[in-house]
Amino acid sequence: QTFSDYKLSEEIIRALAGLGFEKPTEVQHKVVPIALEKRDLTVKSRTGSGKTAAFGIPVCEMAEWEENKPQALILTPTRELAVQVNEDITNIGRFKRIKATPLYGKESFSKQTAQLKQKTHVIVGTPGRVMDHIERGTLDLELIRYLVIDEADEMLSMGFIEQVEKIVQKLPKDRVTLLFSATLPKDVEKLCHKIMRNPVNIEI
Ligand code: AMP
Repeated sequence: QTFSDYKLSEEIIRALAGLGFEKPTEVQHKVVPIALEKRDLTVKSRTGSGKTAAFGIPVCEMAEWEENKPQALILTPTRELAVQVNEDITNIGRFKRIKATPLYGKESFSKQTAQLKQKTHVIVGTPGRVMDHIERGTLDLELIRYLVIDEADEMLSMGFIEQVEKIVQKLPKDRVTLLFSATLPKDVEKLCHKIMRNPVNIEI
């Protein structure tokens, strides 16, 4: 199996080669083709499995450079993870010139607002700060077509699930939703039930 077996553009294949990703990991092999078909997914897998690229590849593939509003929203439980995911998306989307913007607390709101006025394709943020931007009208969600919830079980244990749900209510209904979690506690399953349409369940 190679990345060329998937319906990916030459720019993405080239970026993956540049990152030294020679073949898909198990989670990528299971997730990428289904996510490209625009099915909702719940994925039970650990950090270190290559899960970031498993959602980063389809997100970057579907993003259209010409669009002037964000097309994907990735929610992470922590600032550190937001920074890491933002970097991975930037690397995977490099040759498509995909611009990712990280949004997390304890950083200047006005600096982030200025970044959001520039062209940005992918938003990677923690729930609190993302909600702040939504409420202040500085984050336009009108064209969001992909939603990724990363480390959903951590979201739950940090008390973010309700906030995640509120954010999801603000998103267009016509979208793809991907949820990643190391474990699937009841409340995460409940969330999946509320926000997904007929998801494919993948376990690594
Ligand atoms: P993650 O689970 O997303 O934190 O990824 C774990 C590590 O695996 C990261 O350092 C990635 O850069 C690396 N990685 C992800 N996908 C691949 C791949 N297909 N081939 C080689 N390394 C990979």
